[in-house]
Amino acid sequence: MITDCYDQLRHLPAIRIVLVATTHPGNIGSSARAMKTMGLTNLVLVAPRHYPSAEATARASGADDVLERAQVVDTLDQALHGCVRVVGTSARPRGLSSPELAPRQAAQVLLATASQAPVALVFGRESSGLSNDELDRCHYTVQIPANPQFSSLNLAAAVQLLSYELRQQALAGLPTASERPAPPPAPAEDVERFYQHLQTVLIALGFLNPVNPRHLMRRLRHLFNRAQPTATEINILRGMLSAVQTAAPHVSPSELDARSAADPLHRDR
Ligand code: SAH
Repeated sequence: MITDCYDQLRHLPAIRIVLVATTHPGNIGSSARAMKTMGLTNLVLVAPRHYPSAEATARASGADDVLERAQVVDTLDQALHGCVRVVGTSARPRGLSSPELAPRQAAQVLLATASQAPVALVFGRESSGLSNDELDRCHYTVQIPANPQFSSLNLAAAVQLLSYELRQQALAGLPTASERPAPPPAPAEDVERFYQHLQTVLIALGFLNPVNPRHLMRRLRHLFNRAQPTATEINILRGMLSAVQTAAPHVSPSELDARSAADPLHRDR
């Protein structure tokens, strides 16, 4: 049997392929097959409509091992647990979405980090893709440059193309930036808690309109995502926010809690 023996391909299995709310089980099987042909094996399914399914297994055509090892979770946050870089996919340009990367750049970003910490590539539902909230969880978006008049690929075809790009970039090898690798960015869940904390404080200070916090928060997310803060830096930022809360006596903690409870966006303060 011929196996992937190239050293530079060893990080491909670490890359998490996340399929969100897939409707057709056949697409799950075809995606598993697409992954395996390119040396990817780490599949996470978020709330699939029908799974497990005989159709998924049939369409996997020999990639049943990828399906058997697939994790099934309820939420995107669970799927992204521990991930330090997250790339979302979209069939069309989205207003105010995260910075856009070409498929090749996306592959480079994911591979550059996969050697140090978990990373994920996220695919949306067949009918409507990823929601804006889901795309907000992604540090970058990638769009396969298809025919602008007909840009929506079948889900498994998109998985195939981006898996191919990952393999090509892995085979090409990545330039080594320095002898000592930089510390990895903080995990997605820590960064998410920081954004919730920041939003709570900005609302309490009267800087952010609680009726429509999303636009400003989205811009701030892009700013911090560009900086790729480490876990230590996130701790410093959260410490600063706590100091602001302590130093702003006109906004008592109970008032903050009441506001957080009133608005579901602030639950995780
Ligand atoms: N009607 C949906 C398309 C969903 S296609 C929409 O307008 O968004 C299902 C999934 O396949 C997408 O969420 C995305 O993950 C992937 N996909 C399809 N075409 C793509 C493209 N051109 N670039 C990147 N991903 C694509």
